[in-house]
Amino acid sequence: MTTVKEIENSLFCWAPATLAEEWDNVGHLVGDGKAAVHTVLVSLDITEAVVKEAAETGADLIVSHHPVMNCTWHKVQHVRADDSQGRILMEMIRRGISAICMHTNLDAAKGGVNDVLAEKLGVESPKPFNDEKIGRIGTLKCEIPLADFLPYVIKSLGCNGLRYTDCGKPVHRVAVGGGACGDYIAQVTALGCDTFVTSDLRYHEFLDTKDINLIDAGHFPTENVICPILAQYLRERFPALTVLQSVSHNREIIQYYK
Ligand SMILES: [Zn+2]
Repeated sequence: MTTVKEIENSLFCWAPATLAEEWDNVGHLVGDGKAAVHTVLVSLDITEAVVKEAAETGADLIVSHHPVMNCTWHKVQHVRADDSQGRILMEMIRRGISAICMHTNLDAAKGGVNDVLAEKLGVESPKPFNDEKIGRIGTLKCEIPLADFLPYVIKSLGCNGLRYTDCGKPVHRVAVGGGACGDYIAQVTALGCDTFVTSDLRYHEFLDTKDINLIDAGHFPTENVICPILAQYLRERFPALTVLQSVSHNREIIQYYK
């Protein structure tokens, strides 16, 4: 029998809680740690549709990247049926579905979100931006024009579009930051990068940045790359478990109309 707590411990061996940002909320967040787990559903987020999918597939545990509650977003002040997060938590508890969330600890971990993102984009020998192990910087095998790199990003990450600025440099030394890493533009520019792939960039970040190609490839596409790796990790460590990847939450949330 495998318990929720055993799965949490195993995930913490890969992505220790000490790597998480101070404001974050990671690990076993919902359910009974002693409960037996037979089926795990892996998803970037725990949405109402994902909880429904867990119920339909008989999953007793959802392993997600984004915390289901009490992060910088989704503060829990109440658990009520008249808001979406309340419904998510009520439904999980009602059905005995637990949650384990591996967030900024998994961004920073070796082989975690940023290493996988770097690998997907052909960024070799990736090293963290800083001591907090945020993002990764490495080089492409050979320098390529930005016009060739953009479709490659779309194809590699399954983006349905991207936003970018062209600083006039070809792409060679590349920084990647899964999710919202706009705060690190100055840092990765100073570290000699010609291109930065991240998400959630603002107008003024595009406007004020002159020395590096900025690519906003979307929050979901830059982070969902971890889900198959998470699923594989659990399958290898717990061969008796059925590990599924969400099909209800498997593509870019934001649509582009042109
Ligand atoms: Zn994120």
